[in-house]
Amino acid sequence: MSATVLASPPIVRLAGVSRSYGSPATVALSEVDLLIERAEMVAVVGPSGSGKSTLLNLVGTLDLASTGEVHIAGHDVGTMTDAELSALRAHTIGFVFQQYHLADGVPALDNVAEGLLYTGMPPKERRARAEHALERVGLGARMRHRPRELSGGERQRVAIARAVVGEPALILADEPTGALDTKSGEGVIEILQELNAAGTTVVVITHDLGVADLVPRRVSLRDGRVVDDARDAGMRRARSVDAPTTLKLAGVPS
Ligand code: ADP
Ligand code: MG
Repeated sequence: MSATVLASPPIVRLAGVSRSYGSPATVALSEVDLLIERAEMVAVVGPSGSGKSTLLNLVGTLDLASTGEVHIAGHDVGTMTDAELSALRAHTIGFVFQQYHLADGVPALDNVAEGLLYTGMPPKERRARAEHALERVGLGARMRHRPRELSGGERQRVAIARAVVGEPALILADEPTGALDTKSGEGVIEILQELNAAGTTVVVITHDLGVADLVPRRVSLRDGRVVDDARDAGMRRARSVDAPTTLKLAGVPS
């Protein structure tokens, strides 16, 4: 057997992917080819309406392409049943959204533990893992707080803990800093960078070029098309800023 056959497939592969809505059709995404390898960190940028969320929803298997093929971790999404897609999402993908999507009435710990409901794990183990995930995002001292008792940046960190508690290979974040001030937003990006450094593939949508500058690969969309795919775009700023050094992840030797 050749090494090519044995190598694990790219985490994301899109070939000629288009997505249109309604009739007459609005073309949200047009003929997109995109390859993302495991452990990459990618920023998706572009003006409002350029197709960023559509792209992320297709990669997240929340939506299906009108034409073209979407392969996630080697699975051809277009050929899978809804149950298979749910299972793929549950095991492989963690989602982070601009508005956090947390349950307001319950403590951070329970919000995060909910991310493991699908596993059938006993509640005690779910809680233990949720605690660890909250420690990873620097919220070890806030586990009993309800979302309304937390700042926006802290809420987003709870949402990230929920997204990663099942240890997915791929994190998809749609404007995770969009509702945050610059400093809190940078804290969120630093956490995504730390997760990426530990091996998780991260795709983050942003319209903030300051945020995109912190990410080593930048895919630019315009009118539903990829108009640029720049590697090492963020290295200039990342090298000149010692931002990530302030964050220590629990359990990761420093
Ligand atoms: P972005 O996230 O870059 O702002 P979107 O992916 O949300 O852009 O949208 C791209 C285009 O597709 C826009 O013109 C938008 O109005 C359209 N669109 C997105 N989702 C839908 C939908 N569910 N129904 C109809 N049109 C949609
Ligand atoms: Mg969007």
